[in-house]
Amino acid sequence: MKPELQSWLTEKRHELHQVPEVSGEERGTAASISNLLQACGPDSVLTGIGGHGVAAIYDSGSPGPTVAIRCELDGLPIQEISSARYASQYPGKGHLCGHDGHMAMVLGVAFVLGNQRPARGRVVLIFQPAEETGQGAMAFRADPKFTQIAPDYVFSLHNLPGLELGAVELCSGPANCASRGMRIALTGKTSHAAAPQDGVSPAGALAELLPALATLGQGGALDADYALTTVTHAWLGEATFGVAPGLAELWVTLRTVSDTRMTELIQEAEQRVTASAHAQGLSVEITYDDVFEACRNSDEAVQILTEACRIRDVPCRLVPTPQRFSEDFGQFGKGAKTAMFWLGAGRDHPQLHNPDYDFPDALIPIGTEIFLTAIEETLKT
Ligand SMILES: [Zn+2]
Ligand SMILES: [Zn+2]
Repeated sequence: MKPELQSWLTEKRHELHQVPEVSGEERGTAASISNLLQACGPDSVLTGIGGHGVAAIYDSGSPGPTVAIRCELDGLPIQEISSARYASQYPGKGHLCGHDGHMAMVLGVAFVLGNQRPARGRVVLIFQPAEETGQGAMAFRADPKFTQIAPDYVFSLHNLPGLELGAVELCSGPANCASRGMRIALTGKTSHAAAPQDGVSPAGALAELLPALATLGQGGALDADYALTTVTHAWLGEATFGVAPGLAELWVTLRTVSDTRMTELIQEAEQRVTASAHAQGLSVEITYDDVFEACRNSDEAVQILTEACRIRDVPCRLVPTPQRFSEDFGQFGKGAKTAMFWLGAGRDHPQLHNPDYDFPDALIPIGTEIFLTAIEETLKT
């Protein structure tokens, strides 16, 4: 990559970093991205896709497949700890997953395509909203404008702390776990603390369910049977000595490698909850948030990425197990061949979603070049 382009992309990354917007609120980021894309000469830019999603289309004018590159617009509701001059200007919000860096890489692809159209087919650069809540990709695909994109292949990457800076890992088949937040509300009846027998307290059911749900999914090897349950939040009544509680809430994150195992785990968890609640005379309401389906890489798309890394001389390793964390990128696999790869952010780099995390700028040219080569490889055959 030319040094001028690299420094321009780094500058844009820093600008985006200063104004992080959380899932569903990416209005300003989408406007900046749309303006930057317009300057990179696409045939069209679509906006407002599935919320604040943006897409730039580069059409070769000759028949061929549509290749899409996908990145994310959203930051996180976490206060950043940073001494960088480009630190977040929004209190309590930060680009702590590196989506600012992912956007810069895809802007690099836009800039190059603006000067050199794809050989055939079309290239679509997707900036999707609301990845962190698991809602963005689904909303993006469900938007009527998605029919104008209709990709045959979709590639994406996520930077990965813990992996050597600039190294690539990817796997065939399951790439990211399915997960969902299970919110359990137990309702009984409050009473005077002096007469608990007049009420129905959820304390007993909560005391049963805490260990029962924490041990329902034990984790272990990341195979088709893998199931992990993590209790993330619990409360019971109000902080007072005068009232016996009538309400309790318990939040548990369910995680599996496959969507089938997730369906079973949900059933097991719901049966356990209902049994405890009913035995104690409580009513129960179960709702789900942050629902992520499992993400699978297609063999053909993995081969294309592997070849792109070889051509670009980037160290690339096929790994046998998926990542435990979830990704809504899996949604794009419905109707397209997809693959996501992990790009090392450095062995000792702060982890994603940590307050002191910052995307390593050195990755920008590597990501852009792998994507450009993957596009060429896909359109060549
Ligand atoms: Zn994240
Ligand atoms: Zn992320």
